[in-house]
Amino acid sequence: MSVTATSFLPFHRASIGEDEISAVVDVLQSDWLTTGPRVREFEEKFGRYVGASHALAVNSCTAALHLALAAIGISEGDEVIVPTMTFAASGEVVLYLKARPVLVDCEEGSYHVGPEQIERAISSRTRAILPVHYSGYPCDMDPILDIARKYGLKVIEDAAHALPSRHRGRMVGTLGDITCFSFYATKTLTTGEGGMATTENPEYAERMRILSLHGISRDAWKRYSAEGSWRYAILEAGYKYNLTDLQAALGLAQLAKCDALRARRASIADRYNRAFASSDAFGLPSVPENVEHAWHLYVLRVQAAALRIDRDRVIEELKQRGIGTSVHFIPLHLHPLYQNKFGYRAGQFPNAEERFNGAISLPIYPSMTPDDVDRVIEALHDVASRYRR
Ligand SMILES: *Cc1c(COP(=O)(O)O)cnc(C)c1O
Repeated sequence: MSVTATSFLPFHRASIGEDEISAVVDVLQSDWLTTGPRVREFEEKFGRYVGASHALAVNSCTAALHLALAAIGISEGDEVIVPTMTFAASGEVVLYLKARPVLVDCEEGSYHVGPEQIERAISSRTRAILPVHYSGYPCDMDPILDIARKYGLKVIEDAAHALPSRHRGRMVGTLGDITCFSFYATKTLTTGEGGMATTENPEYAERMRILSLHGISRDAWKRYSAEGSWRYAILEAGYKYNLTDLQAALGLAQLAKCDALRARRASIADRYNRAFASSDAFGLPSVPENVEHAWHLYVLRVQAAALRIDRDRVIEELKQRGIGTSVHFIPLHLHPLYQNKFGYRAGQFPNAEERFNGAISLPIYPSMTPDDVDRVIEALHDVASRYRR
């Protein structure tokens, strides 16, 4: 057997090239390692890229979501509508503020939340909706924004998967009140760890900026500037959520190739779509009209009726064939935290469970070679033919 046939194809590899390496080395050789000129430049360029007036760089998307909810004034007793089909972060940030995450199901046949599920979950305590742009294309935002207006709710978007992505031609980053991006190691733009919050609202931007660095007022610096820049005023208990220049340098190099990296992922998605279009064993991701997909995830569905094995076993079979995959996500309501604290139970959100039970995220990253893509396709066809009912 050849080396390539036995080597393991990982689920993800970051696209780090010489540009990224030299940008980080430049910062290492400068006098400034933490938040400084590179972070400011990253915020400016990122804001311009998504078309947002304000962009705040932080050390994770989780931090961005936390600050966003704090900035719109979420506090104890409030409710925030959160899709059950998401990662831990989208729910836990609500708990940080002693508010209640109210979980909602996916739309039927979708991984995204829809307006009906959201509207049914609204109570007199609801303050915000936190749509998750699962896999990299946005939720159907127009009706969600209509509901928000109708009930006076804020919209905080979890856009951890959605860079770059468009909704009716408009880039994700300006649709809701605040949009939160992730630069975690596996995301479409990475700084190792990192995140960004974008908004059109200058007050939210300022409040998030103050909270992101110990609750220290920037105005205090301005006020005392004649006396010397060492003066500062602590306005409230903030957090240590700032991004470093080392990370921002990496982010700037990645941002410059963001569109090219998306094009590579889109071409891989296209090959997967063509390979599985006529398969009865696997269902393709369905992408609505009017969106541009970031293709952070390519989620294939195992069609239980066609195979003698379930999704978990398909993942094992792929692993034995040297293919790394993942599952996004185990819905929040199936986790002990949400079951014990709020009484959620299995069976409560059937659309999300149906999606979860069949979902396999395939490798989709720019450095995959055509042979890598073929290996994934052949492995899946092999599993399907072997275990067909
Ligand atoms: C990755 C992810 C996050 C958290 O991002 P971090 O930058 O790791 O904090 C939040 N929501 C979703 C849907 C994610 O996939």
